[in-house]
Amino acid sequence: MFKKILVANRGEIALRIQRACRELGVKAVMVYSEADRDAKYVKLAEEAVCIGPASSALSYLNMPAIISAAEVTDAEAIHPGYGFLSENADFAERVERSGFQFIGPTPESIRIMGDKVSAKQAMIKAGVPCVPGSEGELPDDPVQIKRIAKMVGYPVIIKAAGGGGGRGMRVVHTEAALINAVAMTKNEAGAAFGNPAVYMEKYLQNPRHVEIQILADKYKNAVYLGERDCSMQRRHQKVIEEAPAPGIPRKLIERVGDRCVAACKKIGYRGAGTFEFLYEDGEFYFIEMNTRVQVEHPVTEMTTGIDIVKTQIMVAAGEKLPFTQRQIQIRGHAIECRLNAEDAYKCIPSPGRITMWHAPGGPGVRVDSHIYTNYFVPPNYDSMIGKIIVHGDTREQALARMRTALGETVIEGINTNIALHRELMVDAKFMEGGTNIHYLEAWLANHER
Ligand code: ADP
Repeated sequence: MFKKILVANRGEIALRIQRACRELGVKAVMVYSEADRDAKYVKLAEEAVCIGPASSALSYLNMPAIISAAEVTDAEAIHPGYGFLSENADFAERVERSGFQFIGPTPESIRIMGDKVSAKQAMIKAGVPCVPGSEGELPDDPVQIKRIAKMVGYPVIIKAAGGGGGRGMRVVHTEAALINAVAMTKNEAGAAFGNPAVYMEKYLQNPRHVEIQILADKYKNAVYLGERDCSMQRRHQKVIEEAPAPGIPRKLIERVGDRCVAACKKIGYRGAGTFEFLYEDGEFYFIEMNTRVQVEHPVTEMTTGIDIVKTQIMVAAGEKLPFTQRQIQIRGHAIECRLNAEDAYKCIPSPGRITMWHAPGGPGVRVDSHIYTNYFVPPNYDSMIGKIIVHGDTREQALARMRTALGETVIEGINTNIALHRELMVDAKFMEGGTNIHYLEAWLANHER
């Protein structure tokens, strides 16, 4: 096992990784920007290094600063968390060339999966079902683009090969709007992701977002830890996640899970990863793979009893997966609500000082958050300030626990989306389970009226 790891991230996930290190008896070096000097995990750290000013380009995305921090503190490995450099193959490569272990897959795996076009091609080869669409990147010729769209069938969605975070996508309903939409998405993709390549998929009308968590070691052992339903989204961003996905037959999940495991073995994948699917009319369609730990990993930890972050570190250190597929059991139901520093319904960011924070507790309640009373939420980063996760024997019990937990939660001084979560936990359709990816947007639009 490593003696010391550098945590190249901030916020709740930095704290989460620090906690995993403590449990493993591994020292964690924390890095921080000038805006995060007062972060809880920095105060709790045995060692912490300032890597630059508030702007993420100069701190959390600053590869030389992060690698030097690992050098001066004698860390052996770097955990990238999620976001920032976590899915940057060049970073993984530089980390390894500098003599550190990257806690994640190989740069080659990140490269294949980071490009959605090559990821889809790899998945088709591995027998994983995909959303029908263009075979690879769209050509430049408008005539050919129109022909592909006709074959796929309207509505279609134009997506950036290098896209992420719900950006770089455009839905097209008619041939008249097609060529312009492709050109616009290409421009945006070039500017935002440094890669103008786009591809086309059939736009599924009422799908759910269901994803499969996998873990793999360096010896081609791989398992899946069941699924998560992340259909409650706003602007393609997840707001509530749960496991298992309500109403999907176990046999079907097992079949898709097995295909994901086979794909991991085929590409020599190691570490934690997520296969994201759209689920419609009893069918799964692969959309993309995330080659890192995800925000919503706790719901899987609660239903399987497996610590995903600790396992990530163990397999990066060269240990074998400590369990087989047969030993993995899904128990009960877990729900996660993401707490954001923003106006509850209009979702306008609301950074600033938290004058009061009271966390919920009790049986089956977990809070992953780095905030505290008098903490200042900096305006420079993502608005997520934490997550409340609950577990119960049944979905009904989990819902009841989430209602209680949200009722106890107090955050004063800034706006948060707690009120939104409270309303959704008593919403008849959500309580029924199985809402699709458009449900929350429609609900919010209705709420405004
Ligand atoms: P990102 O990497 O930006 O998260 P994804 O490919 O994972 O992009 O898609 C994000 C979300 O966009 C999905 O969860 C879904 O809501 C929507 N989406 C993506 N592809 C399609 C599609 N073919 N049909 C309908 N919705 C889609």
